[in-house]
Amino acid sequence: MKNDIVNDLISVFGSSNVLTKDITDELTHDESLTAKHFKPIAVVFPTEESQLIQLVKLAKKESVALVPRGSGSGMSGACNAVENSVVVSFAKMNKILEIDCDNHIAVIEPGVTLMQINDELAKYSLIYPVQPGESSATIGGNAATNAGGMKAIRYGVTRNHILGLHAILENGEKLITGGKFLKSSTGYDLTQLFIGSEGTLGFISQLTIKLSPKYSDTVTMLAPFDSLNELTAAIPKIINTGTLPSILEYLDFLAIDATTKSAGIDLGIPEEVKQIAQAYLLIVLEGNSSNRLEEDMANIGTILESSGAIDIYSLPPQSGMALVDAREKAFWVAKAMNANDIIDVVVPRSTIATYLNKVSEIALQSGSLIAGCGHVGDGNVHLSVFQNDQEKLHEVMFQILKVGTDLGGAVSGEHGIGTEKLGYYSKLENSVKLRIQRQIKQILDPSNIFNPDHLIPPKI
Ligand SMILES: Cc1cc2nc3c(=O)[nH]c(=O)nc-3n(C[C@H](O)[C@H](O)[C@H](O)COP(=O)(O)OP(=O)(O)OC[C@H]3O[C@@H](n4cnc5c(N)ncnc54)[C@H](O)[C@@H]3O)c2cc1C
Repeated sequence: MKNDIVNDLISVFGSSNVLTKDITDELTHDESLTAKHFKPIAVVFPTEESQLIQLVKLAKKESVALVPRGSGSGMSGACNAVENSVVVSFAKMNKILEIDCDNHIAVIEPGVTLMQINDELAKYSLIYPVQPGESSATIGGNAATNAGGMKAIRYGVTRNHILGLHAILENGEKLITGGKFLKSSTGYDLTQLFIGSEGTLGFISQLTIKLSPKYSDTVTMLAPFDSLNELTAAIPKIINTGTLPSILEYLDFLAIDATTKSAGIDLGIPEEVKQIAQAYLLIVLEGNSSNRLEEDMANIGTILESSGAIDIYSLPPQSGMALVDAREKAFWVAKAMNANDIIDVVVPRSTIATYLNKVSEIALQSGSLIAGCGHVGDGNVHLSVFQNDQEKLHEVMFQILKVGTDLGGAVSGEHGIGTEKLGYYSKLENSVKLRIQRQIKQILDPSNIFNPDHLIPPKI
């Protein structure tokens, strides 16, 4: 049977687009620190939608699972190969089909990466403004995980930028949703159903995305605080100024130390400030008028001062960019330091300090080290958990996630559930929501060929 399907795959994709013997391990998993993965029967590289239609028919006939894959930069095991599966890499479906400057829209294939689209858009002084930390990620993968990133506070997340899509369904049909328009009141929003579906409902084979103008000027501010309560209390006041920061991030003292050291950046922060600072607030403002940006900086500075910031630094452009870049690479630093797991709970923004105080108690009681940073403007906190005892680690992870959901938050703000968080999610999520998700999966993928064992908990 295995040989038959391989021959069939070769007849659909051509032998140069089917890997069977030389499948490197990297093609079978993402960056999750704990999720399991299996060796797939094959990895295929589609180049057009018609091949995807043939593939689903074949997979159904042979009862083989299909695991869509973007760049494999995910954090939850969402593209990890399962048993008896074919991994479907979108690396070669990466054409930018149209850039429509009048409508501020691009039409793209799912394998287009963030770096690729922004390089192309630079020619038109436009950007795709969603900025998850890994620019090698594909926009298909971003859509399937509803990726967020640092600029969500100003621009929103992937969900707010996908205006329409094509999806190849389990029965071989092509669903076409949305289009080059910003609003629609025409029934259930099936575009949004696919956003965050983690490859479980079908292949996303084309996307219509919303673009923004590129601003000419950027300023970066950094404010150390000796208490996280004061830092988080400053956030609503900053937002109330109407200055629209594009980045509002916090880094705890461990995270800023590790990321700046790893990137070789010296921000010139005096030693006496470093000794007392518990957390740092990183603020980036973008615009086309340097005078306006200076005014905005002054307004924010006044608020930071009255909110208890130990000091306020306006970083030179190069250091500002280097710090943002280092913050984006925080995951690699945690991985290099042998973090045992990572977590990206989202909580109501005003509860971040309460959440982190409770996390500190869990760390103390369990003898774990937990450090982090996060999108303080939107409540999404990224924590690295260091705990070598696997049983304790599992319990610590559950407790941290439970503290977050008890505060009115959600298990994941942007990384998704995949296989890694599935056990926790099935215990902590609203049971009605889980049942309806199972029913939707059953309607759209009755043969359960798309990414089985991911995202949707089995019925207990
Ligand atoms: C250093 C680093 C920093 C990061 N920072 C952020 C961040 O700030 N914010 C954030 O949100 N994420 C972040 N991530 C996580 C990651 O980049 C995102 O989850 C991203 O969306 C994954 O895209 P990908 O192309 O790598 O998808 P993959 O990891 O390959 O796949 C992700 C999911 O998408 C599905 N999928 C992929 N393509 C398709 C398709 N065409 N049709 C249907 N399903 C598909 C897969 O099956 C899987 O379920 C970071 C990762 C790293 C390594």
